[in-house]
Amino acid sequence: MRRIVVVGASAAGLAAAETLRREGYDGTLTLVGDEPLAPYDRPPLSKQLLAAEWEPERLTLRSPDDLAGLDLDLRLGVAASGLQPADRTVELADGSTVPYDGLILATGVRPRRLPGAGGHVLRTLDDAVRLRDRLTPGRRLVVVGAGFLGAEAAAVAWRLGCEVTLLEPAPVPLAHAVGTEVGEVLTRAHLDRGVNLRCGVTVTEVTGEGVRLADGELVEADEVLVAIGSLPNTDWLDGSGLTVGDGVVCDEYSAAAPNVYAAGDVARWHNPLFGLPMRIEHRTNAAEQGMAAARNLLAAPQARKPFAPVPYFWSDQYGMKIQAYGYLRGHDEVAVVEGELTEGRFLAAYRRGEKVTGALAVGMPPKAIRQWRQAIATGADWDGTVASRSRAEVVPEGVSA
Ligand SMILES: Cc1cc2nc3c(=O)[nH]c(=O)nc-3n(C[C@H](O)[C@H](O)[C@H](O)COP(=O)(O)OP(=O)(O)OC[C@H]3O[C@@H](n4cnc5c(N)ncnc54)[C@H](O)[C@@H]3O)c2cc1C
Repeated sequence: MRRIVVVGASAAGLAAAETLRREGYDGTLTLVGDEPLAPYDRPPLSKQLLAAEWEPERLTLRSPDDLAGLDLDLRLGVAASGLQPADRTVELADGSTVPYDGLILATGVRPRRLPGAGGHVLRTLDDAVRLRDRLTPGRRLVVVGAGFLGAEAAAVAWRLGCEVTLLEPAPVPLAHAVGTEVGEVLTRAHLDRGVNLRCGVTVTEVTGEGVRLADGELVEADEVLVAIGSLPNTDWLDGSGLTVGDGVVCDEYSAAAPNVYAAGDVARWHNPLFGLPMRIEHRTNAAEQGMAAARNLLAAPQARKPFAPVPYFWSDQYGMKIQAYGYLRGHDEVAVVEGELTEGRFLAAYRRGEKVTGALAVGMPPKAIRQWRQAIATGADWDGTVASRSRAEVVPEGVSA
């Protein structure tokens, strides 16, 4: 293999490029990114950058010297516009064509938007700087969507003295991801601070004056942030023959086709640890999958390793640290094993079938939850691990007590 192309110059793409070099690959390594900036980190965009605690430079993932040390054919500010696997070429929007022997797709996701006047989204450095500059005390911010991103932005805006309204279509924010009871705890954090959280409301349009709800009501705002999820950046792969369906569909090795791998937010792969297809939008997964894809691309077919991680994410809201390991969606049961939900300081374990498949901690030291990682990685039995120590059983939605 003498020519490898990585498309997407962010967490996953950078990790892939670094791993290729670390593993001894010394051929041509092209890194294509449509943003004009060197790779930077996104989690601080909705935290320290939005709060004006960090300047943009601090988000840069590698120094110019470190990037130069990778000896990259670096193509920034230009999008990949097409893929021809039969010819093994990637077409770029500037009209050029890059040949490859191996390819890693790491194009991430873009925000979903609402019809109408647009409003803010929060994915890039430009998005975050634009919103930060508008969050002055007394300004009315409407955040559409109370997922992790919307909740973090609402928390920062509240701290900056904005008048914040958070609009959410579900009855309990995040219930689908973390369960109703844990979702209610996270919800309380907004209400306790006077953030106007309204659940069960659907926004149909962003207008010049604010947002329009499905029942016709206008919720007035000076600024609107639309945080309603994201779409994988796969449009440029249309006609390539790769299977795309809510992400680039991959096998357990993160392979989408022979010598073509995908990593990070854009990859939907089969995680053998859970026996499920998943697409994970978490920072740690992007780096880990970038590394795994690079190793598998270089390995002989029989030496490849399945990518079977225990996913991890964190979120910071109102000074509250939320951390989770595993796969929480589609759980059958949640049980609090340390602390109390009512105190907003607790550790909850998640069951799917007979196994421990997830753990989530709020306001606990990292070491308290880290030990659960192993239980999830080894598919520990729920009855032996959790049921004996649970303080309060939490019955998830749809399951009778
Ligand atoms: C505001 C914010 C806060 C977050 N906070 C957390 C957090 O607290 N905890 C956590 O675990 N995760 C968090 N995340 C998620 C985390 O940042 C992502 O999981 C991670 O950035 C994914 O990395 P990636 O490289 O897969 O994709 P991305 O970071 O999306 O990078 C993909 C890159 O590819 C580029 N690209 C797209 N299409 C093309 C193309 N056709 N040609 C060339 N380039 C292309 C994109 O512009 C982008 O630069 C947060 C994300 C955001 C936006």
